[in-house]
Amino acid sequence: MEIISLIKQVPDSTRVKVDPVTGTLIRAGVPSILNPYDHFALEQAIKLKKEHNAKLTVLSMGPPQAEEVVRLALSLGADRGILLSDRAFAGSDTWATSYTLAQAIRKIGKFDLILAGMMAIDGDTAQTGPGVAQQLRLPQITFCNELKVEGKKLIAKKLIEGGHEIVECIMPVLCTMIMPHEYHPSYPSFMSIYKAQVEKPAELWSLKNIDAEIKLLGLEGSPTRVDKIYPPVSKEKGTMYNGSPSEMVEILIQILKEEEVI
Ligand SMILES: Cc1cc2nc3c(=O)[nH]c(=O)nc-3n(C[C@H](O)[C@H](O)[C@H](O)COP(=O)(O)OP(=O)(O)OC[C@H]3O[C@@H](n4cnc5c(N)ncnc54)[C@H](O)[C@@H]3O)c2cc1C
Repeated sequence: MEIISLIKQVPDSTRVKVDPVTGTLIRAGVPSILNPYDHFALEQAIKLKKEHNAKLTVLSMGPPQAEEVVRLALSLGADRGILLSDRAFAGSDTWATSYTLAQAIRKIGKFDLILAGMMAIDGDTAQTGPGVAQQLRLPQITFCNELKVEGKKLIAKKLIEGGHEIVECIMPVLCTMIMPHEYHPSYPSFMSIYKAQVEKPAELWSLKNIDAEIKLLGLEGSPTRVDKIYPPVSKEKGTMYNGSPSEMVEILIQILKEEEVI
């Protein structure tokens, strides 16, 4: 079995600031981490790799420093790590990102299962996983938090409002992963980091390594335009009322009457 795990380096903060002029994320000065959803997906991929003697490749697109997350994945147990980095990819929206990742996956060739995080904690769109599946014309199962493989069949526990569904699919398939509330990512030992660095160097791929139409890449290939960025308008401070439940009901009825709701 061949597994590909999509991983993204993100700023170590959910409070990413936005440049009001360019409308892009300000990443400078913010330490970076592996997107937690991808960390969880990667751990699931490593578990499946061990259970099924699979080959696990991680793929990331980003600036040269994103090699850090590829190395982390290699020291955690991935067999192969690829960083897609080229000026031609800069300015990609989720559409162009999905296309570029899909073209790299086509170049990797064989795969049975592609895992992505449900979303990246900086961009927050949750579009890239489904976008890659669509580009590759693959079935997709989103919001998964447990995976099992039986022969050619993938069995996924998919979270839905108020519960979960069990979805089965013949591979190849793409799943987007969501971690449980209490999730503590695992980190490699010093020895694994050292061994991975010596035995499994990260591969750096540029535009030359994939077959892609230039006009579908980067800013030119991105149909999204950011018109305006502004912070959400803060709501006026509300009024607090104290009292017994019956007093509160009286107050509520009074307010609704004043507002002419009832
Ligand atoms: C007009 C425009 C210009 C932009 N320009 C830039 C830019 O110059 N530089 C920049 O960094 N961002 C840029 N972005 C943001 C970039 O498009 C998104 O970060 C990217 O498309 C992923 O979207 P997301 O962060 O919402 O991830 P989501 O769709 O929420 O991510 C879901 C999952 O997809 C996978 N995934 C997402 N992105 C990657 C990746 N890069 N590599 C591997 N796996 C991935 C991960 O598994 C992740 O958990 C731009 C966005 C717009 C709209």
